[in-house]
Amino acid sequence: MPSSQTFQNHLAKARNAIQIGPIILIILTVSFVFSIDNATFWSIATSIFKGHPLSYAGYILAVFFLTLAAFSLFALPWLVKPFLVFIVVLSAVTSYYMDSLGVIMDRDMIQNVMVTTLTESKHLITAGFVTHLTVYGVLPAIAITLVKVKRYGALRTLAAPALTFCVCMSLAAGLLMADLKSYASILRERKDFMSSFQPGAPLVGVIRYVKMMSRSVNVPVVAIGEDAKKGPSYISGGKPVLMVVVAGETARSQNFSLNGYGVETNPKLATLPVVSFKQLSSCGTATAVSLPCMFSRFTRDTYSYEQGISHENVLDVLSHAGFHVEWWDNNTGDKGLADRITSRSFTHTQNEEFCGAGECMDGIFTQALKDYAATITQDTVLVLHHIGSHGPTYHLRYPAEFERFTPTCRTAEFKNCSRAEITNAYDNTIAYTDEILAQTIGLLQDEDGLATAMVYVSDHGESLGEGGLYLHGSPYFMAPEFQTKVPMIMWMSETFENQLGIDRNCLSAKSDSVLSHDNLFHSLLGMLDLQTVERNPALDVFASCKAARKVARN
Ligand SMILES: [Zn+2]
Repeated sequence: MPSSQTFQNHLAKARNAIQIGPIILIILTVSFVFSIDNATFWSIATSIFKGHPLSYAGYILAVFFLTLAAFSLFALPWLVKPFLVFIVVLSAVTSYYMDSLGVIMDRDMIQNVMVTTLTESKHLITAGFVTHLTVYGVLPAIAITLVKVKRYGALRTLAAPALTFCVCMSLAAGLLMADLKSYASILRERKDFMSSFQPGAPLVGVIRYVKMMSRSVNVPVVAIGEDAKKGPSYISGGKPVLMVVVAGETARSQNFSLNGYGVETNPKLATLPVVSFKQLSSCGTATAVSLPCMFSRFTRDTYSYEQGISHENVLDVLSHAGFHVEWWDNNTGDKGLADRITSRSFTHTQNEEFCGAGECMDGIFTQALKDYAATITQDTVLVLHHIGSHGPTYHLRYPAEFERFTPTCRTAEFKNCSRAEITNAYDNTIAYTDEILAQTIGLLQDEDGLATAMVYVSDHGESLGEGGLYLHGSPYFMAPEFQTKVPMIMWMSETFENQLGIDRNCLSAKSDSVLSHDNLFHSLLGMLDLQTVERNPALDVFASCKAARKVARN
């Protein structure tokens, strides 16, 4: 008999010997995930329930029974194994990011994962991740596939899950009722607690994401600002306007020397007549939320994914006013913002100097912008979507000659780097952004035939290990300021200031004002002197600086 057949016979015998019921398989899997994939959850639980062992045990058992109750609904012969394989793999993936980077898998993070590009996500797949996934996800998944699940008659097959569900729910309810008041206050105050629980948190995230997406399928897009028209500044003609809006990526305000950082990360911008707003908070903590939000008419309080995709954005309003509007992308796409305008992707440009492996450094824009500016004959707004400081591979965001702060972290495996190395690599990305913005301003300055301006604003910040957190995407309510305070830097040529009637000193005086992404929509309209019912003067930082100039002129 061939040896492979012998092996298969042994395997079949072994499988027959270890037949187990579906409910037992679920109990074993939940116990495994509970104990192995929840380091952060356990550490938070231990600190919360310190000195209260009974409450601790009661709560953990209640969560365990609730999980069992939910999973027992999948205890059907054809369903149980695929479901449990999905659970162990999902928990292995999410526990790695939770436990090593502090990344919480909520709805918005699931959205980020879904809309991210392969090029962007490949940097997160490190050797450490693959090892973790293999040991905690793939091997248990193989074990689950190999186990033979007992088959019962129809009645027992259906009754067992129903009974398990009822018993587990009753036990969980009983345990929670025993100390409901303190559990309720813990859950209210420590929102990070259950957000760290695998597989509960990512499953709830997936369900909420699917609900959000299903609500927004085929929603019509409501036009906004169709009344927009150019204001009095345009009546006497003048030079065509070229405004470059740089949508930055993962740049946090705290690491800009323009905003008080002790490391010289903005040597070039420091020599230019820019206005840097130091107190600007972002709409979200990740691109998928912040980017559509900051260009929308909605504030952080009123923005939602559904509202965002069902309404036109400020770029559409600019088009309605007669501007030519383009979006150039060197990041993960425009998130639907450029659906109705011209857009161009730079991420796969063939360019030895700036590009490699499906991504480019932001220097790729400079020559293209120079060529483009020379052709402009009408009022134009160009959005440049930078890759900026996108991690974890900060060292890939800048050319070798911009390795100014050393030593740097040169891997996506943060545990192999010191905090200082990670920060140095990040600071180099900011210094490179400084260089690119200065180049952009330089070439806009040279365009004598145009009235030029630049607005730079980042989508969200980044954690560099403070409080054990890395990267970004923390739920807003618990996100540190490192993830939510972002730079906004403006530059205007003299022609632009004169033509649009803007008082730069007045604007500079506002650089310490508390602002947010809520202001961007209205300020872009105000800066360009566009009249529309959509512009709310209270949120337009230019509103009083135009008035001031008019008063000064009179
Ligand atoms: Zn981003």
